[in-house]
Amino acid sequence: MTDIRIGHGYDLHRFIIGKKLMLGGVEIEHSHGLAAHSDGDAVIHALADAILGAVALPDIGQCFPDTDEQTQNIDSAEILKHAMKLIKQKGYGIGNADITIITQQPKIAPHAEAMQTKLAELMHTTVDRINIKATTEEGLGATGTGEALAVHAVVLLRPASA
Ligand code: MG
Repeated sequence: MTDIRIGHGYDLHRFIIGKKLMLGGVEIEHSHGLAAHSDGDAVIHALADAILGAVALPDIGQCFPDTDEQTQNIDSAEILKHAMKLIKQKGYGIGNADITIITQQPKIAPHAEAMQTKLAELMHTTVDRINIKATTEEGLGATGTGEALAVHAVVLLRPASA
């Protein structure tokens, strides 16, 4: 049987004023950005943790600790590239990824295609293997009140084709 791996990642960041909003490697026009040591791209953080989790590697918090001044405001694309490099070394590539963004604002649908395109490029795969969808939590909890944005990512890895 083909050796496939599955991984799950989760991330949540608080909205703040005065930072650009980056999601899935795409800059999105919005009144708030996400508080973080990095650029705050919670989509990429959840995705990278899913990828690393699938091959039982330490999560991105261990690879890119928030105490490291060198990675202050790091472009999260670099985090995803690092995760991809590590799974490639283990002989894996992306099977598919399914990502759920939980937020009241902004509307994600108008940006989903741009995110899928950018993520497919970063993950060396095709757009039809990356899904972005969004939901709200009905005004409840940190995401519902608009204080935070959360992301779940599920990733399937398969042996990389030669
Ligand atoms: Mg994060």
